[in-house]
Amino acid sequence: MKAICKKIPRTLLFLGLAGSGKSTQADLICNPCEGENISTGDLARNERKNKTKLGKMADKYMEKGLLIPDKVIHKILRAQLTKFNRKKLWAFTGTVRTTNQIPMFDETLAVFNRELDKVVFLELTDESIINRLSKRRFCPKCNTNYHPDYKKSKKDGICDKDEEKLIQREDDKPDIIRTRIEVERKVIEPVLSEYERRGILLRINGEPSIEEIHKVLVKRLADEG
Ligand code: AMP
Repeated sequence: MKAICKKIPRTLLFLGLAGSGKSTQADLICNPCEGENISTGDLARNERKNKTKLGKMADKYMEKGLLIPDKVIHKILRAQLTKFNRKKLWAFTGTVRTTNQIPMFDETLAVFNRELDKVVFLELTDESIINRLSKRRFCPKCNTNYHPDYKKSKKDGICDKDEEKLIQREDDKPDIIRTRIEVERKVIEPVLSEYERRGILLRINGEPSIEEIHKVLVKRLADEG
């Protein structure tokens, strides 16, 4: 484990509109620091893939690009959180998207003897989001995202980790992207205000390259964490 990991707080939340790179940045922190990247989007997609009761409840919202109801997404989170290693750094992605979810998330963390240390918000314009999402492809097996301009796979259209054929997410199609941006922008602002009030919000410019953002992020987490 890298020395810098000792300075990174152990419970992080990555927020940003769809396509902001939150999962990629969470991975770049988790990989060297042996942390768990816990994405509610991935957990919900797993429930859908396994056709569970909760997955079926999430279906009709996800296919339209809408947020899953607060209670449903937090049931999904609670149900799957036990499988993560409690001793490790936990980096949540996209886990709090409405103000109602703030206390729900606090309570869930308390069950695991944790408190939220820092919230990272990656800022991007609508244009950049549309460009990123419409070209994004993902691996249906391990959920890793790829992009021809920002994060290429070694072999075109094939996942680096498990050789699976990359596909486009249903909700990354252009008309659904617009709905997602509109819905997500409106609800995220009051969430950010609350975390700003608590003094734990880091706003990071999400436009530069993945490596540049990572450098800035590590420095700020280490200095301000
Ligand atoms: P993401 O992979 O983070 O872009 O999330 C994909 C989709 O999962 C979102 O468009 C929502 O439908 C759903 N989702 C993920 N996290 C949440 C959450 N905290 N609250 C509501 N819906 C969520």
